[in-house]
Amino acid sequence: MSTPILVTGGAGYIGSHACKALARAGYTPVTYDNLATGWRDAVKFGPFEKGDLLDRDRLDAVFAKWQPAAVMHFAALSQVGESMADPGKYWRNNVCGSLTLIEAAVAAGCRDIVFSSTCATYGDQDGVVLDENCAQEPLNAYGASKRAIEDMLVNFGASHGLRHVIFRYFNVAGADPEGEVGEHHQPETHLIPLMLDAIDGKRDALTIHGTDYDTPDGTCIRDYVHVMDLVDAHVLGVKWLEEGKDSRVFNLGTGTGFSVREVVAQSGRITNKDVPVIEGPRRPGDAVALVSGSRRAGEELGWRPDRSTMETMVRDAWRWHQSGHYDG
Ligand code: UDP
Repeated sequence: MSTPILVTGGAGYIGSHACKALARAGYTPVTYDNLATGWRDAVKFGPFEKGDLLDRDRLDAVFAKWQPAAVMHFAALSQVGESMADPGKYWRNNVCGSLTLIEAAVAAGCRDIVFSSTCATYGDQDGVVLDENCAQEPLNAYGASKRAIEDMLVNFGASHGLRHVIFRYFNVAGADPEGEVGEHHQPETHLIPLMLDAIDGKRDALTIHGTDYDTPDGTCIRDYVHVMDLVDAHVLGVKWLEEGKDSRVFNLGTGTGFSVREVVAQSGRITNKDVPVIEGPRRPGDAVALVSGSRRAGEELGWRPDRSTMETMVRDAWRWHQSGHYDG
């Protein structure tokens, strides 16, 4: 059998695409997922082990069974708004869950981990392009939970020899162009899938969360990266650790920001449809602008986010939206 990699959250949006990329690169992706927000149908590229991050016994059994060479850790709650309403849920699931996972990995002798972090750990930095050395001052409990896990990885590195590649994602969008997996959140809170729902009448309109920000058109600015490019970086991260290199943090974004209104306008043009919009109030916890300084991933990992044009991301998301689905 090819080298097993334990993929927590492998039934989710990004995790399922990562499993596809791992299988293509010759690994065996072993999905570990409690299916709280993921989909059994999305596990298509390797074995499935149902389990919760907080269940140490189950984790120990899965590590013993598969003896993975590394962990890719995606499993997390990831909604900014929900994290502001219920921070305890985020600290318990994300932070306590990751602690349980990391302790199980160390006990099993698995010392390489690729971790899914976020630009939300930076918070607002007054229009500065965010590189990996920027201060991390999260505005919401989601970002705070991810920052805490980053700290945990550093501590376990110093004490137990755990090595990490931390990826701080900007806004992930798009879908597998072959349509095997795609984005399906329940409930959905992300801009592009909600907008596609509005375009094809599954919802009345897209609400723009805030039009009075200090940006050229008053709406928030984000840096969007194609999910297939993002997961390619994760495979490079596994190889980085395989080659024995030191722990490292990489931003994953393109360095180009789009306002909400720009995403709406481009999506209307790309799908050739009207996008019904309503202007609403700001969403708590939203940063004004999050744009990546992402040279490091290019220079050191050799990462090239070639699919991350708005055109390709919206086209691939639209194709999935129209034809792809999970039943369970
Ligand atoms: N957004 C919006 N309407 C929506 C969902 C999102 O205006 O229905 C905005 C949101 O305020 C943010 C941007 O779109 O400025 C991206 O939000 P998303 O939830 O997709 O990702 P986040 O940046 O929170 O990770």
